[in-house]
Amino acid sequence: MIRDTFPVGLLQCNCTILGDELSHEAIVVDPGDEIPQILQRLARHSLTVKQILITHAHIDHIMGAERLKEITGAPILYNQHDLPLVAMMDVQATWLGIATPEVRPPDSNLTDGQAIQFGTLTGQIIHTPGHTQGSVCLHLPEESLLLAGDTLFAGSIGRTDLPGGNGRQLIGSIHEKLLPLPGATVVIPGHGRSTSIEREREQNPFLQ
Ligand SMILES: [Zn+2]
Repeated sequence: MIRDTFPVGLLQCNCTILGDELSHEAIVVDPGDEIPQILQRLARHSLTVKQILITHAHIDHIMGAERLKEITGAPILYNQHDLPLVAMMDVQATWLGIATPEVRPPDSNLTDGQAIQFGTLTGQIIHTPGHTQGSVCLHLPEESLLLAGDTLFAGSIGRTDLPGGNGRQLIGSIHEKLLPLPGATVVIPGHGRSTSIEREREQNPFLQ
């Protein structure tokens, strides 16, 4: 599998390209900004985008999705419980002091347990409400990889003070759905450096 993770935009959201080397099919997770750079990286890896996945509808994760869809024709998928956040995109834009980006309802809803297929690769959606009500993670068991959005960070957890956030729910989602994954699973959070399930199980001060 090809994996390319790089920070984009004002808040340095981690955008990840996952690609199948055999079929050259790919997915892009959280194209928050810098679409030209994302397109360049796709071309460098000779990949074609089949789906655009959004871990949650915060502006720094979803802002570039429509543009990427326009250019590639790939559908946008995220969980419908984040639609209230989409409805307040103008408010989210004021948090960053930028113009309101165009964001639409998803072409397809992402639900817990849903399989995501690109080429020969398969991932699974894990619904982890707490940071937002529609927050999801993408788990690729065969690759020992978890894209965690803003649910779990290296040494930290997602903030819950924004609309739709719920601290108890977030801790519950992490304990029930993420920490039971194999310890060696590499975790790519929505911001900052990568970590592993084992390291967060043992050392994350918010989860002890
Ligand atoms: Zn967020």
